[in-house]
This record gives sequence, structure tokens and C-alpha cells, in this order.
Amino acid sequence: MRTHFRAEQLADPSIAEAEKNLRACVHCGICTATCPTYVLLGDERDSPRGRIVMMQQMLEQDGAPSEETVTHLDRCLSCLGCRTACPSGVDYARLIDQSRAHIQQHYRRPLADRILRWTIATVLTRPTFIRLALSLANLFSPFVGLLPGRLHAMARKALPLSSPVYGGGGSPRSGETEGGIRAHPPSASLRSAPPPQAGEDKMHRIALLPGCVQQVIAPEIDEAAARLLARRGIPLEPLQGAGCCGALAHHLGRD
Ligand code: SF4
Ligand code: SF4
Repeated sequence: MRTHFRAEQLADPSIAEAEKNLRACVHCGICTATCPTYVLLGDERDSPRGRIVMMQQMLEQDGAPSEETVTHLDRCLSCLGCRTACPSGVDYARLIDQSRAHIQQHYRRPLADRILRWTIATVLTRPTFIRLALSLANLFSPFVGLLPGRLHAMARKALPLSSPVYGGGGSPRSGETEGGIRAHPPSASLRSAPPPQAGEDKMHRIALLPGCVQQVIAPEIDEAAARLLARRGIPLEPLQGAGCCGALAHHLGRD
């Protein structure tokens, strides 16, 4: 694909890297069939090929992107199905990361959007805050309807179907569960590594990043991994105080 970056723009190594990726795209469209947002919405702007064109225009103009561009880039799930399908070796992951950082720097989002993104980056990265937020969501469930747009959708998913929000019962919609999202106490079995047992594999130890959201709403995943490894005689070493891996902030373009 032809690009039109200025020489001074290409002096920036990150733009030079983006240009190389953009030029590698030959618009063949092989990636579109692997893209869930394109399959669902059928809009070229929600396909990897369409997003690549919008990313090119945005980075070349080097200013505030349009609302249309932000909408369609925001809809990308970063699943990277397109990257593995691409025969030209376009590094879509790098392009979308650079574009999100550009949007974060140059675009002023509506207030509700800013509140939502701040909440994701601040609350969801801290297990203590997530537990508190889930307790508050249950406490204030009758007022969830007053929250705007996507904040309302997020709070609603945290509530059990017995909540008054559902009128005391009903069928869950996509992502909603019978019992709502429950906060679990920190897993005692993962807080400290047990001393090596006889027969344990002395050559291997596996470090576990407890993360943020998962350890609160689904600690059984790490507990199952610990049990499985214990059966193989491989001790698990939880990384105390490691905190969030940074993926949430990264995918919001905040790093
Ligand atoms: S498969 Fe690769 S080269 Fe083809 S349109 Fe998609 S990103 Fe571009
Ligand atoms: S990373 Fe984005 S553009 Fe690529 S397949 Fe996933 S949703 Fe589609």
C-alpha cells in the first residue's frame, strides 16, 4: 500500500515502523474472514483491511482522529486472528497498539467514555477495588438504571438475576449470569509457596502472576493450575505483590 508520510515524520522510529507495516498490506482481504467484528457487522470499516486504511490516514495526518475512526478502531478486539491469517506479514498488533496510543494522545473522548476508561484502568487493575466495586454494585443495584450507557451495561452484568434490576428474575442476556459476578476472597492455597516435598521436580518451578480481575472473579482457574502442576511434582511460585500485568492499560492506549 502506498503511504504519504513526510520525511520528518519518518524520522520518528515508531512512525517508520508503522509505515513499514502499512506498506506491507496489499489489501488482499484474506484477513477479513477471520475478523469477528467484520463477520458480525459486515462493515469494511470494522475489518482489519478497513482499519489499516483508517490507521494510515490517522497517522499520516498526525492530528486528532475523527469520531468515525475512533469508533471503528475501538471496536477492534485485539484478538489478532487477522495477524496469523495475513500472508504479507503485516504486524497488525503493533499497528493497533500505536494507533490506540495516538488516539489517547490526540482525541478528547466524551465524558462518559472517559469515566468508563478511567474506571477500567483504575478499578479493574486492583483486586481490592474490584471487590469493593462488586459489593457497591450489589448495594446500589436499584439505581443501576441511572448509570449512562456502557457503565450501566458493566454494572448490570455484575448483578445476580434476583436483583430488582431484572424485576426479580428473568433470562440472562449475553454475558449475564444467574448469580451475577461474585467476588472471591484471595486464594489461601496460592498466597505462599509450600516447601518442596519429597519427589518434587527440583529442576522446574513455575512462577504464577496472580493478575487482577481473574483472581477476584475466577480464582478456581489458578487453583486448578496449581493442583495440576502439583500432581506432576512441579511447585508453583506465586509472585507476591506483582499486581496487574499492564494489559488493560496497554489496550486502552495508556502506556
Ligand atoms: S491479509 Fe494482510 S495484506 Fe491482506 S488485507 Fe489483511 S492485513 Fe492486508
Ligand atoms: S485483531 Fe481486530 S481487526 Fe484483527 S481479527 Fe481481531 S477484531 Fe478483527
